[in-house]
Amino acid sequence: MNRLRERLIAAAREMAARGLSAGTSGNVSLRAPEGILITPSAMPYEALTPEMIPMLKPDGSHEGPYRPSSEWRFHLDIYLTRPDVGGVVHHHAPYTTALAMARREIPACHYMIARFGGAPLRCADYALFGTAALSAAVLAALEGRSACLMANHGGIATGRDVEAALAAATELEVLAQQYALSLAAGGPVLLSEAEIEAALSQFATAYRPQ
Ligand code: 13P
Ligand code: ZN
Repeated sequence: MNRLRERLIAAAREMAARGLSAGTSGNVSLRAPEGILITPSAMPYEALTPEMIPMLKPDGSHEGPYRPSSEWRFHLDIYLTRPDVGGVVHHHAPYTTALAMARREIPACHYMIARFGGAPLRCADYALFGTAALSAAVLAALEGRSACLMANHGGIATGRDVEAALAAATELEVLAQQYALSLAAGGPVLLSEAEIEAALSQFATAYRPQ
């Protein structure tokens, strides 16, 4: 279990090192055999040690000396509704958040959007941070997708484990940056549904780890 807590801390520190979250913004979790391990609320990532990591139970209770992230609801609800998800990363990265502030979804502007399950990559409706209403909005935006934006807030990415979720969260910020730049360059020419379908099947068949 300590090994999983170390992996959680490493992912949270790496999120900060990559410039995806400033200060104590953002949060990270992973699915463990006994519950959900999640970063504690409002704690600098450098200060974390394995004993400080709260364990969330499916009923919303937690074990450990520190309060879990204020966003524990959407982390828990994602694990409860998405059995394929083993890690969740939420950040306030600059380009992701700039699009979320404009309440813009990311359309089929690049084939890499297929990496997140298809187009568009939705922007969840605004709800106050740390609420069940935000969790409901996030679950709706994540339908059929592995990532979403959150209006006037930031972004969420999921993966089969916490390292995959961090990789997806990093790629989400890159896609948001590319889309924002293309808007400044006159606006992207969007791919068709058939072109996105072809990219989805290419990811499923031809493009895989080796
Ligand atoms: P926590 O420090 O409680 O995880 O909150 C940070 C955040 O990003 C809230 O949306
Ligand atoms: Zn946040």
